Amino acid sequence: MSSSSAATSLLLAEDDHDLADLLMRVLVAEGYDVTTAADGQRGLHLGLTRTFDVMIVDRGLPGVEGLDLIGRLRGRGVLTPVLVLSARGSTQDRVDGLDAGAEDYLAKPFEVTELLARLRALLRRHRDRAPVLPLGSRSLDLATRTVSGADGVEVELSEREAALLAVLAARPQQVFSRRELLERVFSDAESDSVVDTYVHYCRRKLGRGVIRTVRGLGYRLGSP
Ligand code: CA
Repeated sequence: MSSSSAATSLLLAEDDHDLADLLMRVLVAEGYDVTTAADGQRGLHLGLTRTFDVMIVDRGLPGVEGLDLIGRLRGRGVLTPVLVLSARGSTQDRVDGLDAGAEDYLAKPFEVTELLARLRALLRRHRDRAPVLPLGSRSLDLATRTVSGADGVEVELSEREAALLAVLAARPQQVFSRRELLERVFSDAESDSVVDTYVHYCRRKLGRGVIRTVRGLGYRLGSP
């Protein structure tokens, strides 16, 4: 969603091979950039290490069960909208799915046209309420990954820079250790020096004051 011409990236976590195959073909034909995961572990790994615009998650997945997968992503700050597919369709199942952090819930069997319509609605809703976080006197728009100030100057951030600032801005009073930031933002990285590197990138783009170093403890949001 960073530009209107870019394809919408979609993670499809579904272990039913035939259904995954069918959905993959339909979604690609609709212009989605689809990545598939055949089990929950793979889905979790992809969800934590890559950025998607939307996810379709089957509830009954081997490895990590679908709702557990969503809960873990939400716990790590991944806010991508999720549509859950389930063989079960009772009200309680639906409630469980929504409670786990899914935005929508579709019981199998379903019509592909309904799935596509729900995806479009989900993306629309998400775009409309994409979070804007205060960043001192400026604000960070997570949908466009831009920081803008009262002077009208806009600064574009990379995905990782925006994710790092989003974690800090969500709790402006809290000091985060490098280890915490590593786990939340750079879970695929080996060393926590990557945190320092991205703090440096953010400061270079937005000024030194944007992130404060708290000696011996870590980093917190500054007051730029
Ligand atoms: Ca399944």
